[in-house]
Amino acid sequence: MNEVRVVLSVDWEGRELDEKNLEAMIAFREEFKEAATLHFLNAAYFTKKNANPELVRKKIVSVLRKGDEHGLHIHGWKSLFEQSNVTYRYRPSWMCERPVPPVSDGPDCGHDVPISSYSVTELRSVIQYSLDVFKRYDFSRPFGFRAGGWMATQEVLEAVQKEGFLFDSSAVPSIFLKDKRKVPILHDWLEPLWPDITQTTQPYVILEGPNPLWEVPDNGCLADYMTGDEMFWVFKQNWETLKDKKLKDNTITVSLGYHQETAAKYLPRLSDGLKKISKFCKREGIPWRFGPLPLEI
Ligand SMILES: [Zn+2]
Repeated sequence: MNEVRVVLSVDWEGRELDEKNLEAMIAFREEFKEAATLHFLNAAYFTKKNANPELVRKKIVSVLRKGDEHGLHIHGWKSLFEQSNVTYRYRPSWMCERPVPPVSDGPDCGHDVPISSYSVTELRSVIQYSLDVFKRYDFSRPFGFRAGGWMATQEVLEAVQKEGFLFDSSAVPSIFLKDKRKVPILHDWLEPLWPDITQTTQPYVILEGPNPLWEVPDNGCLADYMTGDEMFWVFKQNWETLKDKKLKDNTITVSLGYHQETAAKYLPRLSDGLKKISKFCKREGIPWRFGPLPLEI
């Protein structure tokens, strides 16, 4: 039987854990209890100056639910890279053309520096450090990865594969970011990085090898860039594709998601999109569900 699988993900940016966003996530999870979630967690909350690790852990855990999966998200945070024994780089930046060096002793920075600026060896150090942090604070070992700003170049993927990950989820239809950001730099990088990714691109092997690395495209992007109607459109496009083609297991995967740091602002969009999907599926008799998450690709 044909079925649509919605993989719902959250990117944890590693910037802050603000009550209003955590509360919005808790409320959302109450409303959509069946929405098992893939959390791309970030170790950078633990590397901030004066971070209280137990409190950080408690806040993150407050929004996790049974059935969720833990993935890894990395942005180029100075504190995270330095604690991983990697020399921080402040450029390039997707926020400005001419980035300036950070002031010593300033707050953490580097969110806007693509991790593709680093070598495979450097990235492996940061990944290993992040995995150690998760282990220390009792999170599950992640097997899925998403690069900050979806910037998973060949080197990033290679590092991820070598660290034993099973899938990456950084491929994104760059069109969804077009003219949606204050500066177009990130969009202009993503366009040539993911030229063939569309709203209906399905999981594929992106790096061969004894342990092949899968790519699970973020084909519905994240709520900061998508209205509820646009998410619903992505869902319908996938459903149409599934009806027309014979796909493996007769399942099609739609990736939808949001950021923890902007949850209060953008979760209403996701909520709107999911309600529209649910109503449409009920009316048309279309089977759909959240997950199973991509570990079962
Ligand atoms: Zn991010």
